[in-house]
Amino acid sequence: MPETRSPQRPSNGPAPHTVALAPAELRALDRAHVWHPYGPMPGRREPLVVESASGVRLRLAEPAHGRTELVDGMSSWWSAVHGYNHPVLNEAARDQLDRMSHVMFGGLTHEPAVRLAARLVEITPEPLRHVFLADSGSVSVEVAVKMCFQYWRSLGRPAKRRLLTWRGGYHGDTWQPMSVCDPEGGMHDLWSGALPRQVFADAPPDGFDAEPDPGYVRRLRDLVARHADELAAVIVEPVVQGAGGMRFHSPAYLRVLREACDTNDVLLVFDEIATGFGRTGKLFAAEHAGVSPDVMCVGKALTGGYLTMAATLCTSRVAEGISRGDVPVLAHGPTFMGNPLAAAVANASVDLLLGQDWEREVKRIGTGLEDGLAAAARIPGVVDVRVLGAIGVVQLDHEVDMEAATRAAVSEGVWLRPFRDLVYTMPPYVTGDDDVARICRAVCAAAREG
Ligand SMILES: *Cc1c(COP(=O)(O)O)cnc(C)c1O
Repeated sequence: MPETRSPQRPSNGPAPHTVALAPAELRALDRAHVWHPYGPMPGRREPLVVESASGVRLRLAEPAHGRTELVDGMSSWWSAVHGYNHPVLNEAARDQLDRMSHVMFGGLTHEPAVRLAARLVEITPEPLRHVFLADSGSVSVEVAVKMCFQYWRSLGRPAKRRLLTWRGGYHGDTWQPMSVCDPEGGMHDLWSGALPRQVFADAPPDGFDAEPDPGYVRRLRDLVARHADELAAVIVEPVVQGAGGMRFHSPAYLRVLREACDTNDVLLVFDEIATGFGRTGKLFAAEHAGVSPDVMCVGKALTGGYLTMAATLCTSRVAEGISRGDVPVLAHGPTFMGNPLAAAVANASVDLLLGQDWEREVKRIGTGLEDGLAAAARIPGVVDVRVLGAIGVVQLDHEVDMEAATRAAVSEGVWLRPFRDLVYTMPPYVTGDDDVARICRAVCAAAREG
């Protein structure tokens, strides 16, 4: 066999991509060229430049409001549950990097992906059994929807091609997920005609501990029954609606949905992309209700916030249904499907989580949030303070002034990212008690100033 050519290194000086940009230069390039989430172009606000991160701290390239280090109150949007630069996850990534960072998944397979799929089946509710490894949460929701549509098509019921959800949800930013996001928060007006039109129930009544509202239960049941002939699936975030409004609801409504779906031949999809891996106090939020979905999405904390990966799990009933059709395959296959690097880190992250008393840590943080956020209830303009698992939310009676709220949090040495009328936090599970208290002071300051 001919030898492969040895990799070449540039010989004269360091490679251009290794030369650090001065922060001012970096910000100028960022402003000129780079989109940020939900941002205008060019950007109107100056993002902070993060140089590195370790534990629960983000290190800034230059001081902001007197701080060069910020405690991360966001877990990088629910994902970095073990904090940053974790030695175990770093080692898993390095180890896998030395074998291969990627290889195509068509016709090939590898241990990190197989191990991960088997592990997910083991830890998620029965009878979820088959796993599609996607490259982001939104794609995993697209795959979930495709599975449901195709299931009914294969069973000779192609008219079942709509979705039902409740208002106040968030399922991602590609088209099918967007169509089941809250119609106002998801700006459906902007896309009327382009977005698939789905069936919306009212948002579930507030309160994890609240008694289920019989009127709401009846309306929910009726709506599923009335649209049964055209519904492929009901899709919801169980127990916690995240980016759609940070609202908590009674698990009883999930049992109502399970029953209504069974009675009316409709599949049930749980989007656990935000709630999965312990955030709400159970490993998966479905466990609060004791019900299993037919299809379930996980993402965000799956890789401990290291790399982008998500998964869609389904039951054998769904998989076998699809396989009985005239097109017996699931026609979906992202280029980076099953990415070995992400899968290896995900395996290490799941091991790390389950190898510790994560329930105690989530409870500890929840208690810290309850103690520290109690004071927020007395701040003028605050209408609600709520905590579930390791999630703390302060709701205002007005839209947050992002600039002022961010400045207040950063001055306290904390990174927060409020939205709409919400200042909220979901700290990494490794956050110490002092840092949880600091995060709470920052949430209160942001609520006061914002
Ligand atoms: C974040 C999120 C998504 C989308 O995941 P991406 O990885 O951002 O595409 C979908 N559903 C829920 C519940 C989420 O929180």
